[in-house]
Amino acid sequence: MSEEIDNKKIVVFTGAGVSAESGLQTFRDSNGLWNNYEVNDVATPAGWENDPALVLKFYNERRLEACEAKPNDAHKAIARLQEEYEVVVITQNIDDLHERGGSEHVIHVHGELRKVRSTKDEELIYDIGADTIITGNLCEKGAQLRPHIVWFGESIQNYEISVKHIRTAGKVLVIGTSLAVYPAAGVLKKARYHAEKIIVNLDMEKKPFGYKWIRGKATSVVPHVVDLWLGGKCVV
Ligand code: NAD
Repeated sequence: MSEEIDNKKIVVFTGAGVSAESGLQTFRDSNGLWNNYEVNDVATPAGWENDPALVLKFYNERRLEACEAKPNDAHKAIARLQEEYEVVVITQNIDDLHERGGSEHVIHVHGELRKVRSTKDEELIYDIGADTIITGNLCEKGAQLRPHIVWFGESIQNYEISVKHIRTAGKVLVIGTSLAVYPAAGVLKKARYHAEKIIVNLDMEKKPFGYKWIRGKATSVVPHVVDLWLGGKCVV
């Protein structure tokens, strides 16, 4: 492979667990049900086809919840890495807590709650902040708006660029993901053999090869990993 590994580059790969201590429920904690909704009804193209009003209501509630949540010490610690490294955050999360925690380069692979897009032209994407959308809210081409979210059965976003970044990272930090959702989880396998690779998670069914697992809560463990990687400079 031609890409050079860069020891001053870190990829941070996150899932719902990094936002759990900000009060946002993880997928797993909710046992497949998300505040009384059935995942198939609200997170699949068939669900949207069947009842768009229900899907919009579900994401309106999630959007409001995420806007009210605050970045926690893990999100903030990740941003501190930028003092000494090029940091690329690749997140499966649809909240914007990494951005609000100070991370400047965030790649979303499963979409963003703050954004909606046209059902006619997927290039037409709008940032609506904490607003709600309902059936009848249209894009400038007259088509219904839908959440800018990757539903089960849809292609993930930014896969190639994510792989490109992880292949050149000297360090990889994975936080709060069950690694159950593919192909997003497959990105981790593209990390280099010689890169330092750490996973911070409460539990782990199958650890990917070459990663060191630190069991614990994101807000307890991540600031220490960050301090270590910043050369022992303790800020907390
Ligand atoms: P998941 O729910 O499948 O797994 C969460 C993982 O985080 C588990 O392994 C759990 O042990 C760990 N965890 C829980 N609390 C933790 C904590 N405080 N510190 C460290 N680890 C903790 O989530 P996933 O792997 O991200 O996949 C589910 C899908 O649902 C993803 O696409 C995700 O984006 C989406 N989702 C997003 C949000 C959000 O944007 N905040 C919330 C729920 C689900």
